[in-house]
Amino acid sequence: MSTWEPVIGLEIHVQLKTRTKMFCRCRVGFGAEENSQTCPVCLGFPGALPVPNRTAIEWVVKLGLALGCEIAERAVFARKNYFYPDLSKGYQISQYDLPSCVNGNMIVSLAEGQHEIGIVRAHLEEDAAKNVHVGGRTGRIGGAEYTLVDYNRGGTPLVEIVTAPDLHSAEEAKRFLQLLRQTIVELGISDAEMEKGTLRVDANVSVRPAGSEVLRTRSEIKNMNSFTHIARGIDAEVARQIEVWESGGEVEQHTYDFDVGSGALTARRTKEEADDYRYFPEPDLAPVEPPAELVDRLRFELPELPAARIARVMKKLDHDRALVLVTGGLDRLWEATVAAGADGVAASNVIANQLVASGARPGAVDPTELAKLVDARERIPRATFAEALGKIGDHGFSAEPYLAMESVSDTSELEPIVDAVIAANSAQVEQYRGGKEGLLGFFVGQVMKETKGRADPRVVNELVRARLAP
Ligand SMILES: [Zn+2]
Repeated sequence: MSTWEPVIGLEIHVQLKTRTKMFCRCRVGFGAEENSQTCPVCLGFPGALPVPNRTAIEWVVKLGLALGCEIAERAVFARKNYFYPDLSKGYQISQYDLPSCVNGNMIVSLAEGQHEIGIVRAHLEEDAAKNVHVGGRTGRIGGAEYTLVDYNRGGTPLVEIVTAPDLHSAEEAKRFLQLLRQTIVELGISDAEMEKGTLRVDANVSVRPAGSEVLRTRSEIKNMNSFTHIARGIDAEVARQIEVWESGGEVEQHTYDFDVGSGALTARRTKEEADDYRYFPEPDLAPVEPPAELVDRLRFELPELPAARIARVMKKLDHDRALVLVTGGLDRLWEATVAAGADGVAASNVIANQLVASGARPGAVDPTELAKLVDARERIPRATFAEALGKIGDHGFSAEPYLAMESVSDTSELEPIVDAVIAANSAQVEQYRGGKEGLLGFFVGQVMKETKGRADPRVVNELVRARLAP
């Protein structure tokens, strides 16, 4: 039955964390009193003139380079005309037919190999103000009693990234977004947090018979506020479209909101065509012409990007582990630890769980010492292992003293302790023999306590079980 192939493209809006807005000197930031971060420019008063934010222009170039895009020698701001209360000017300044970045790609690593996702464009624009719908149950406009507008957000620099319809599953879309988010965060241009709205994603979804090259009618899904919800929204829409086609119907072009609670898709207004906006070049702004030296410098300054690092880690680990290491800034320590002789999976478990919990800074850890500990983790007592990880970030740390404290697994040494514990807890022995087998852990715990955590728990387990057998 699975003869349908999902075809997914994404439109992503990223709010840049510049100090000031895109075309004026108003501060950007959350939590300020409503409508306190505004001025004649971002409120669109007649005669006010926009001045572009140099940092925002550098950052879109930086992002474009990280996404493998061609950087336009000449990009042009346009007015996108529409009327809505969140846009007091009556138009939004955006880049239209001449965007800053085009023709890029990002490589997503899947179990079956690597998949290149095309980036059609990345361009700069300004954010609209925020409508706050009051009354009604969902905070949406439907059912609201009235709407308030907070213009603090109006004019905040945004980058819109548009992918080619190259994604073919919800899982792949999720991985792409995780990777894109990590890239943006590492570039330092945005916090890219979906819950705060600094990263917003719309998905265009269609399905077609597997093997076909023809694109069928797509629909757009909005209002998804986490990567998991995006994946669920896409899965729901794919299933809906397959059902429509298989029952002899035809998918129509619609925009849907995805309701996280019910998992339901609700249709919005019919999609407007781009032509409705009557774009024209913004007469108050000069074209963006970043000098070649600036582009070269930004290209030179790019760090090694998460896509390359995830691909490298995935030669030894699965995607989930690789993602945790890379997004946690732990992959370089992991690589060095493996290079020092540690097992890949074991090192990843120790670093991503215990080391992080111990509070050690990854940069302060000597990978050679960590590799020794990872290697010995089954042989030394758990408490000793935890103690060593707690100190591994200290200057001059050596694993040797801890390695010397191997677990006590010698039965002749442990048997007397087991016997003493059993003798001291006759009531529990009776209960255990009466069927309360959960008490086994109690006896093992007592023995561990007596040995100050040095006993090998597996050996203790066997000894206790044998002794308690009726
Ligand atoms: Zn302003």
